[in-house]
Amino acid sequence: MTAPTKPPYGGTADSASEHAPGEPLHSPVIDWFDEHARDLPWRRPEAGAWGVMVSEFMLQQTPVNRVLPVYEQWLARWPRPADLAAEAPGEAVRAWGRLGYPRRALRLHGAAVAITERHGGDVPADHAQLLALPGIGEYTAAAVASFAYGQRHAVLDTNVRRVFARAVSGTQYPPNATTAAERRLARALLPEDASTAARWAAASMELGALVCTAKNESCERCPIAAQCAWRLAGKPAHDGPPRRGQTYAGTDRQVRGRLLAVLREAHGAVPQAALDRVWHEPVQRARALDGLVADGLVEPLPGGLYRLPMT
Ligand code: SF4
Repeated sequence: MTAPTKPPYGGTADSASEHAPGEPLHSPVIDWFDEHARDLPWRRPEAGAWGVMVSEFMLQQTPVNRVLPVYEQWLARWPRPADLAAEAPGEAVRAWGRLGYPRRALRLHGAAVAITERHGGDVPADHAQLLALPGIGEYTAAAVASFAYGQRHAVLDTNVRRVFARAVSGTQYPPNATTAAERRLARALLPEDASTAARWAAASMELGALVCTAKNESCERCPIAAQCAWRLAGKPAHDGPPRRGQTYAGTDRQVRGRLLAVLREAHGAVPQAALDRVWHEPVQRARALDGLVADGLVEPLPGGLYRLPMT
C-alpha cells in the first residue's frame, strides 16, 4: 500500500474521470486519507509487495492491533517469499500465533512456495498471476495489485462495502456476503486513472476502518457527510437479514485454538493426553482435532502423537 504521504494525486485534472459516478467522492476521501491515514508498516515503501501480501492475509479476519506484532516478527524472520517457502508449513502455523483462522498461515505458506517456484521469488504484479496462486482469492489479488503495484482494481473488504452501502446505496449495512451488484458498484466508482484508483481503494478502506465504523459511525468527522445517502435519508434502520454474529466461546473454533496452542508451544510431537487436557467435552474435542487434521493444520503420527505439519 502507498505510504500516507502526499500522493501524486492531481484532483480532477484527468478529463477521463470527469463524468465518473464516484468522482464527487474521490477528492474528499483521498484528501482525508492524506491527512489521517495511519502509519502502518505495510504502507511504507520498504514493505514491498511481499509485505503487502502478508498484511492482507493477516488483516482479513483480524484487527490491526493484533496483526502488528505478528506481522513484524513474520517479516523479520521471512523477509522474502523464498525464506518462508524453505520452512515447513508447521512453522508458519506456529508463527501465526493467536491471530485466529490459522488456515490462512497454510495458505500464505503455499502461496510463498508457488511464488518461489513460478515467479523466481518475486510476488507477481499481474492480477491473473496473483489470482492463480494457491490461497489467493479475488480480494487478495486485487488488494496486492492495487496497494503494492498501484493498479486499478476494485478492492472490496468489509470496510469499503460498508462505506459504499451507506454513502452510495443509502443502507446501513451491506449484505452478509458480497453480491454482484456490489462489485458492479465498486467498479463504477473507481477513478479512471490507475494511481488515483489505488489511492481511492486504500482511502475508502481507511474511512470505513476509522470513521464509518460498523457501530457509532463518526459522521461529524466524515469528509463525505454532505453527500452520504444514508445520512441524508435520516439513517433508516437496517431491515435486511440479521447480521452474522462473531460468537467464539464454546465453539469448535475455540477448541481448535486451544489444541493448536498446545502444538505451537510444544516444538515437537505431543501425545493425545496432552491435547485431551485442553477441553472437557470429548465429542467436541475429537471433532475439533479431526477438523484440524483434515485441514492439514495438524499431522497425526503413529503411536497417538500429533505435531504441526512438516510437509
Ligand atoms: S456520513 Fe456517516 S454514515 Fe455516511 S459515510 Fe460518512 S461516516 Fe459513514
